[in-house]
Amino acid sequence: MKCSQGGNFSNGELQRFGNIELNPSAGVLNYGQGLFEGLKAYRKEDGNILLFRPEENALRMRQGAERMCMPAPTVDQFVEAVKETVLANKRWVPPPGKGSLYIRPLLMGSGAVLGLAPAPEYTFLIYVSPVGNYFKEGVAPINLIVEHELHRATPGGTGGVKTIGNYAAVLKAQSAAKAKGYSDVLYLDCVHKKYLEEVSSCNIFVVKGNVISTPAIKGTILPGITRKSIIDVARSQGFQVEERFVPVDELLDADEVFCTGTAVVVSPVGSITYKGKRVSYGVDGFGAVAQQLYSVLTRLQMGLIDDKMNWTVELS
Ligand code: PMP
Repeated sequence: MKCSQGGNFSNGELQRFGNIELNPSAGVLNYGQGLFEGLKAYRKEDGNILLFRPEENALRMRQGAERMCMPAPTVDQFVEAVKETVLANKRWVPPPGKGSLYIRPLLMGSGAVLGLAPAPEYTFLIYVSPVGNYFKEGVAPINLIVEHELHRATPGGTGGVKTIGNYAAVLKAQSAAKAKGYSDVLYLDCVHKKYLEEVSSCNIFVVKGNVISTPAIKGTILPGITRKSIIDVARSQGFQVEERFVPVDELLDADEVFCTGTAVVVSPVGSITYKGKRVSYGVDGFGAVAQQLYSVLTRLQMGLIDDKMNWTVELS
């Protein structure tokens, strides 16, 4: 789908996957005017396919587009385009329990612009790929390191939207962490340097007794759709959930820590290294809380339990 600055997207068309042409002075290549989304399609036992809250991705893209001075598809256009793309690629949705089809909607300033300004033209496209587990650990606990020098977001910046530049900003710390054997990096706020923010591509939760705490949405973390869903699921399961500033020191005596995201679903954290000290959680598997929430969320996403929240969209 294409659209000019200030215009509206008209409905798009299906094309075979392949390279796309871009002008060397396209806004996305020069000034980072790009946003993406990520969602998954799961195959049910009866062969039908389930999407999980696609309208939330559409809304998040629209909010991000406003911050990045870009026009965006309407919620209906976005959801219809996702459905059409998934149905056209139905054969690539893995069988139940064997993974999912990852769906990547991408919005970019494709028009040519030399001086710094919003691009004159925009392209919205969607591509898909079958995926398994995000971390090489699979569903086993991951090991994080707290980053002290580098930050992924600043107050007033673009950390709260899913813009492409946010991911370039984390590559250095993430590559260094992986080279040392860690699964990923846990970022702190850049003002006080003591409050938890998030991991490179997922949100974080800290469990102490019946209370589950997670950093509040304040413009420097991505408002994850899995985060939002897990908060509702946890409350419905009787946990107290607090969205607030979470000091990094709380990691030291937490019972459990876990991450959430479309790609990682609910990933238990086995250890966090903080100022050279390694804090471990659990022994060899999920903590009980992460296990319980993982089980409810994945069964919902795969159509194995009643969807009382009306979160799934079924395609046949
Ligand atoms: N934080 C960041 C930086 C992310 O890239 C993601 C993945 N989209 C998340 C959190 C989790 O968001 P969601 O649950 O919507 O996938």
